[in-house]
Amino acid sequence: MMAGLPGLMSADDANCVHWEGARMGRIRVQRCGRCAQLRFPAAPLCSKCGSQASTWVEIGTTGRVLAWCHFHRAYFSEFKDKLPYTVLLVELEGGIRLYANPAAEAGDSMPVIGSTVTAVFEPVNERFGLVKFR
Ligand SMILES: [Zn+2]
Repeated sequence: MMAGLPGLMSADDANCVHWEGARMGRIRVQRCGRCAQLRFPAAPLCSKCGSQASTWVEIGTTGRVLAWCHFHRAYFSEFKDKLPYTVLLVELEGGIRLYANPAAEAGDSMPVIGSTVTAVFEPVNERFGLVKFR
């Protein structure tokens, strides 16, 4: 099981609100203040209408697996001792797509494309958490 990304998480990062939500068991994403398009990761502009207005909203915690892969190379030094590990691409409400780890590695079994998954939340520290899926 992944221990999180403490070296990559910062209170100055635009995604801070998302990680704080995960610490409280919620998935938070940005919603455009003009057209209501949802987006994540955080961005200063809406990709649909260009508005800079946005708020953070909570979305549902159930999604479906679009893709997955096993990582055998450490692209982040924080993950070097976790190899090999699995990453899922999960589509949630409003078309939000999250890359996340499964809540538990399932040995030799493989995630099923199209299967329904539910978020679980793993604390990283007192302030931040990670979204994972089972
Ligand atoms: Zn917009």
